[in-house]
Amino acid sequence: MRRAVLLMCDGLSREWISPERTPNIWAMKQSGLWCADHRAVFPSVTRASAAAVATGYTPGNHGLHGNRMCFLVDGKLEVRDAGLPDFRDHMRRATGRTLHVPTMAERLNGDCVAFSNVSPGAAYFLDPDHHGWVYHRAGCFGPGGEPITGDDALTVPSDPDGDAVMVERFCGEVLEERRPKLAICWQCSPDKTGHTEPLLGPVHTAAMAAADRHVAQVFAKVQELRAAGDDVLFLVGSDHGMESIGPRVHVGERLVAAGLKDALDSGDVAVACQGTSALIYVAPGYESRIDGLRAYLKDADWAASVFEGDGLKTLGARPDYGLTFAVDTAYVEKDNGHGVTGQRYEAIDGAEGDAAGAFAQHGGIGPRETAPFLVVDDGSGSGRERAETSSLPNIAPTILGYLGVAAEGLQPSLL
Ligand SMILES: [Zn+2]
Repeated sequence: MRRAVLLMCDGLSREWISPERTPNIWAMKQSGLWCADHRAVFPSVTRASAAAVATGYTPGNHGLHGNRMCFLVDGKLEVRDAGLPDFRDHMRRATGRTLHVPTMAERLNGDCVAFSNVSPGAAYFLDPDHHGWVYHRAGCFGPGGEPITGDDALTVPSDPDGDAVMVERFCGEVLEERRPKLAICWQCSPDKTGHTEPLLGPVHTAAMAAADRHVAQVFAKVQELRAAGDDVLFLVGSDHGMESIGPRVHVGERLVAAGLKDALDSGDVAVACQGTSALIYVAPGYESRIDGLRAYLKDADWAASVFEGDGLKTLGARPDYGLTFAVDTAYVEKDNGHGVTGQRYEAIDGAEGDAAGAFAQHGGIGPRETAPFLVVDDGSGSGRERAETSSLPNIAPTILGYLGVAAEGLQPSLL
């Protein structure tokens, strides 16, 4: 029987993988296909990335713009948080469905079990219409959205200890007993720790080591399954890396102060913050604001690169629902005290301040956040390196191709 297992280590930048920090992932380079130029999608945030992994499309094509996005409601812009439970209802009302393209779970007729320990939105966008099984502490669901409760539910905390419990159960219950065609396990480490601790500091380093130990645990189970006769494709990767944070800017407030947006909650111009990037939407009828916004963004200290029009397409984004500008935030040249150089401005909708490298974020097109890792191990035992660029949307066609399921319209398989 052919099966695929995908294990994600959220937020683990490729440059941090080393024999000392992550010996088990490092060792996998000896047996699998190491994607030496694996890239994140834009924005490099988890919810949009989960949908890119699940479907094989970039955010502009799968339709989930980021961790937050705008919809047009009666001609006004409304910013919605994709992490909230009612987000999928807003998306259905605005677009007629959730994602614009099918997930692997749908293409596999529901023969997919996903365990996720990140945000609810990132978990549910692996299979937003409930073709298969999704387990998350905010609610576990089987096919058709049937709730899974009691001891069968997954209620682990979103931290390295919770990952450990989830991975243990994933190996036994999912890989050994239930044996779906596709099994996905999405750890919150080291991302969750990186959002509260300095990159490469002792706590972040320990979170990377924990995620790496779980890689060895799942790989050992995969080897057992192979020895027992299954053909198993094993993919281990991350969705993005992270960048140290310095100054934090309330982008909406700045636009109001510049006279480019009527009020913080107004529906004329709206900002969907994505950590180290921001999406700026302009409602129909307010196009006269665009020249002023462009001029403001060109001079803003917090904005490094501004994309619009065809520039959005080069990022894999699309100008739906009034999306007009994508802004990547600037750097300040400061070390975080643990050898990580450069601190990024963070786009927020809360109080401004300076984090001074005390924690990290992602979302933009910086060098660390856009360099996740990926190893694809098909059991052949020969390590090799792929120099050509690959990206999160290459994962679904690689899995579907291995399982012999049609993947029309998708990127090529990596195998
Ligand atoms: Zn992530």
